[in-house]
Amino acid sequence: MDRIIVIAFFLFFISCNAVNDASNTDKQIITEKIETTDLAEEIEGWVEFPENRTQHLDIKYATTDNFVKEAMYDCGKCYLRKSAGLALQKVAQSLAQFNYKLVLFDCYRPAPIQQKLWDKVPNPNYVTPPEKGSMHNRGVAIDLSIMDEKGNYLDMGTPYDYFGIEAHTDNYNHSKEVLRNRKLLNNLMVKYGFKGIRTEWWHFSFVDGNYEIADWEWDCP
Ligand SMILES: [Zn+2]
Repeated sequence: MDRIIVIAFFLFFISCNAVNDASNTDKQIITEKIETTDLAEEIEGWVEFPENRTQHLDIKYATTDNFVKEAMYDCGKCYLRKSAGLALQKVAQSLAQFNYKLVLFDCYRPAPIQQKLWDKVPNPNYVTPPEKGSMHNRGVAIDLSIMDEKGNYLDMGTPYDYFGIEAHTDNYNHSKEVLRNRKLLNNLMVKYGFKGIRTEWWHFSFVDGNYEIADWEWDCP
């Protein structure tokens, strides 16, 4: 099916679902899907998002393909607090119905890594000061995009971590396709309890962000 038709249908589907959300039937369906999913492994209040059929990991800070041009993580993994993780699972499951996948660029970012980033770029315009801590350090923020069934990332107008007005969500100077793709991502994230920020189309944080900054780091093979 043509991508435009898929997205148009998808946006219609989301708006219909939003209306149905109040019904118990819909809630029951979502709950059953979570219980039968193999998406996440729960670890003491955290959930991991491994590479699988509904999500693709492209953790940029585990590579040199990021704005500091240096690998910050020893390996790329994606963890979120359980509340945010369960919500993100619903986003992934909604996309999977249309053969789309989440692309995960960054999830929980341990406090020591935030310090490392700050040491390299001590500029609050680009990196949140470690003492303040970002929603990523609290395990409730996620940087993400969407890919289609062929593995192509949907065109969002700029690459990840592009610092310029082209990445702003209130900049409508983009093609219809880009605006549609951004709307698809934003609508789904908002539907399941995330909110975006004006300057980065890829960044969302969970509405319940009342968590402490965490400093544990994941194991690497
Ligand atoms: Zn972010």
